[in-house]
Amino acid sequence: MDTSDGAGVKLRRTLGSPQLDSLDPFLLLDEFKSDQPGDYLAGFPDHPHRGFETVTYMLAGSMEHRDHAGHHGTLVAGSVQWMTAGRGIIHSEMPRQENGLMWGFQLWVNLPAALKMQPPRYQEFPPEAIPTVESAGGGRVRVVTGESAGVAGAVSGIATTPLYLDVALPAGAAFEQAVPAGHSACVYVFEGHALVGDARAPVDAGHLAVLEGGDAAGVTAGDAGVRFLLLAARPLGEPVARYGPFVMNTKREIQQALADYRNGTLGG
Ligand code: MN
Repeated sequence: MDTSDGAGVKLRRTLGSPQLDSLDPFLLLDEFKSDQPGDYLAGFPDHPHRGFETVTYMLAGSMEHRDHAGHHGTLVAGSVQWMTAGRGIIHSEMPRQENGLMWGFQLWVNLPAALKMQPPRYQEFPPEAIPTVESAGGGRVRVVTGESAGVAGAVSGIATTPLYLDVALPAGAAFEQAVPAGHSACVYVFEGHALVGDARAPVDAGHLAVLEGGDAAGVTAGDAGVRFLLLAARPLGEPVARYGPFVMNTKREIQQALADYRNGTLGG
């Protein structure tokens, strides 16, 4: 669905929408893409997170982040930030450009109960630090995390052992990726058109396909080629209590998060 978040940033939400609440452990997937400054300039001013991880991956433009503990950085096109909020982060995510295209994704990944209150952790990589693999038929795979064709991704040590690939295929090329049995998996097409899975289901840009019942994810590019994210991870199978930027296991833990945020102890 098309929606807005933060101080009024226009985005397209697939996971975390009324049509698809979540795909355990993934809680939300937003694509923001606009060359109209009015769609993104307001950014995401100071806001909290607790109990999960936010992953920002940029395709175009530049985003600056700051948090309550003094962390500061700028994400440029092709870079990733994997932020494990743990017990709490209060941060801002603001465009560092006044015009031009701003394009990227934010993914929310849940943490297991035992790690929800861990200290916050950042993994941030510039474009050149994300390994790229050539695939059959002229494809190109950027391995953000997980492993593809024997190449390990930039981000490591994530509880749900996720796979996060940015794949570009020319017209007609086929791509196959092993996914551990029992892991949740999905394909989000952001440019072009693809045929996904054993059923060769047609998927257009701006749409997400959930993969079921297999240990390999197959995608074939349409006539104009395709670009997509392939995401997979180990499901947690734990109760989810979710309220805005807090994702815990019980309602009581949400109330605690709200209380901690109000009295200034969210980040410990
Ligand atoms: Mn945030």
